Amino acid sequence: MRVTSEGLPSPRLEIDVEAIRHNARVVSGWCRDAGLGVYAVTKGVRGDPLIARALLGGGVTGLADSRLSSFRQLQDLRQSGGGGRAPGPRFLLLRAPSPGQATEAVSLADEVLCASADVAEAVGRAAAGLRPGRAYGVILTVDLGDLREGLLPEDVPRAAVAIEERLARASGGRDPERRAFVAGLATNLACFCGVVPTRGHLETLVDLARQTGQALGRRLSVSGGNTAVLPLLLREGLPPGIDDLRVGEGILLGRESLHREPLPGLRVDPFTLWGPVIEIARKPTCPVGECAEDAFGHRPVFVDRGRRLRAIVAAGRQDLVPEGLRPLTGGLEVVGATSDHLVIDVEDYPGTLRVGDEVGFRVNYACLLQAMTSPDVARVHVGQA
Ligand SMILES: *Cc1c(COP(=O)(O)O)cnc(C)c1O
Repeated sequence: MRVTSEGLPSPRLEIDVEAIRHNARVVSGWCRDAGLGVYAVTKGVRGDPLIARALLGGGVTGLADSRLSSFRQLQDLRQSGGGGRAPGPRFLLLRAPSPGQATEAVSLADEVLCASADVAEAVGRAAAGLRPGRAYGVILTVDLGDLREGLLPEDVPRAAVAIEERLARASGGRDPERRAFVAGLATNLACFCGVVPTRGHLETLVDLARQTGQALGRRLSVSGGNTAVLPLLLREGLPPGIDDLRVGEGILLGRESLHREPLPGLRVDPFTLWGPVIEIARKPTCPVGECAEDAFGHRPVFVDRGRRLRAIVAAGRQDLVPEGLRPLTGGLEVVGATSDHLVIDVEDYPGTLRVGDEVGFRVNYACLLQAMTSPDVARVHVGQA
């Protein structure tokens, strides 16, 4: 808790780029020691260029994001490698483009994750326009049970051959100069259904890549997953044959994504959300009158704790996810939020809180994404990237 610093906008997200670079360096080191590359995933920070620079400074192999809008802001870093290193970092598009976005997807990234032959064909057509010598890699996603995107394992080798055909036809032939090709396989677990990645999943993926590579006549790269794979990597290592991981939350927030435990040696404090207090009053804790749905269609349940001191902070669900806030100081408790008002119980706060003061919070991944998405949350970068 602290008084609003003169001149600083509020609400704001304070971003410690030095902490992010530290995390990127540690995670890159784990991966390098295991013979893996690592893509830093920037979608949780909507491709923030200063954060991307810190990630590259930490030594990651490339940047990955789901949105073209993120990659549009990162093109400068692509050429320069962030610190003038050659060659520049690789850019991986994590979500398949719609066919109508294929041309831009091909110009903004080096590789794309995809499972649809129709999307692949549009990508192939777009890649035919690339300058000679530049090839575009299509990495086929395999759904090993998390039930989001991807080919089912039993379909992979056959679908890969069909997709390779369509890519070659659309992008200008089968010669070694072809502009779009099936470059590898990737899987993503623990995202939609929360399926815990195991060695078994990764062995299946490596095996599929071997079979598919035989059918296509070349070795395919294998991208083993996201932050949820890091505990497995640290505990027992990954099976041989994995080439890289794609890590967002682990680097940005320093926690694994299965139980949200801190990862060893990582900083969990790169982001702090600050918001201004606009009202303080002692009010009943139980609503007065009959209750129906709230503003968001929920029926909240309240426990009667008598009258307690509450603060209203000028930020709401448009700017944050109240369930994902952890106050920096003791004695504060988030009660809930509407679109624009955050209600905090401050009865047990040992200090004094006044209107105009600021309250600070750690954020979880969902809340980070919301804060980065809100036009009303300013971003203030601190530390040496
Ligand atoms: C979001 C995403 C990631 C990164 O996930 P984290 O849990 O943040 O590491 C990796 N791969 C794909 C395909 C994704 O969509």
